[in-house]
Amino acid sequence: MPADDSVLPETKESLEQLKLMTERIPGMIFQLFRSASGQLRFPYLAGNATLVREGERRLLADDGSYAFERIDAEDFPRLMAAIERSAKSLTPLAMQFQLHQPCGEVRWISVRAQPEWRCGGTLWHGLMMDVSEQVAHEAHLRELSDTDELTGLANRRKLMCRLDEEISSARRHGSPLSLMLLDLDHFKGINDTWGHLQGDQVLEDLARLCQQQLREEDISARLGGEEFAMLLPVTPLSHCLPLAERLRKAIAAYDFGIGQGKVTASIGIAEYRLGEPRDAFIERADRGLYAAKHQGRNRVVSEP
Ligand code: GH3
Ligand code: MG
Ligand code: MG
Repeated sequence: MPADDSVLPETKESLEQLKLMTERIPGMIFQLFRSASGQLRFPYLAGNATLVREGERRLLADDGSYAFERIDAEDFPRLMAAIERSAKSLTPLAMQFQLHQPCGEVRWISVRAQPEWRCGGTLWHGLMMDVSEQVAHEAHLRELSDTDELTGLANRRKLMCRLDEEISSARRHGSPLSLMLLDLDHFKGINDTWGHLQGDQVLEDLARLCQQQLREEDISARLGGEEFAMLLPVTPLSHCLPLAERLRKAIAAYDFGIGQGKVTASIGIAEYRLGEPRDAFIERADRGLYAAKHQGRNRVVSEP
């Protein structure tokens, strides 16, 4: 808080109260000034001492660069661009960024500030709030909405997002991309014979088996029921085929708690063709799966 000996005692008291109050808020109130030459400083900064300490505030009043150095390298250009936009259009600055604390901890900060022209530069009046807990909670909710509850694998929604990402990467780099669609054989019979709970256990074990057989960068998903998908970036069909065969054999040889050889899977595979829409790619893998079922199950088929 600015100290001024000329202020009346009652004003001084209310300033003291304001200081006490702002020190307890989970954020900061600030003024940020950008000169015509682009220099940044914080003429006013009050609030939570864990974000900025008393000594730092005095430094920042003359030179804001110390605070900007602590902003995460990924967020820094976005923040600078947002400041530039806000200054040019005189519209509010609003964004979130990661701030590196001197102790090494990283906090998520949300900033909202209103700009005005002042002394040949731009002066923002704003708030910064520590929103780390909220950001973590949102990430957790996103994770839940992307995850299949039973197996912990990606769900259909997440697979479709990853497919779109991997297809655009394959288009950009011309790299191969393969897809496996897997459906358990006669799974209804397994449920009927061993019960639904045992069936669920088979699905959980199968998810683990798929992940063990594939690489870290491959994406395994449960599409629903007893149908799974594996997306293999940077993999041509000639590499996908032996991988699918290895997975099929591993499933057929695994004891899912109901005796070895009781569970088998049919797998359809396809390699992405440049320019092909996502659904046509899935459709080709699905045709392979349908053919594998038709040819007697427990096999891998790639349809043209
Ligand atoms: P096919 O070889 O032709 O694939 O035969 P199938 O019996 O596997 O195929 P179908 O689609 O007729 O049956 C799938 C069964 O999967 C029916 C359903 O009871 C079972 N199922 C679907 N979701 C779950 C689940 O979450 N848990 C369990 N235990 N069973 C499920
Ligand atoms: Mg089935
Ligand atoms: Mg099925």
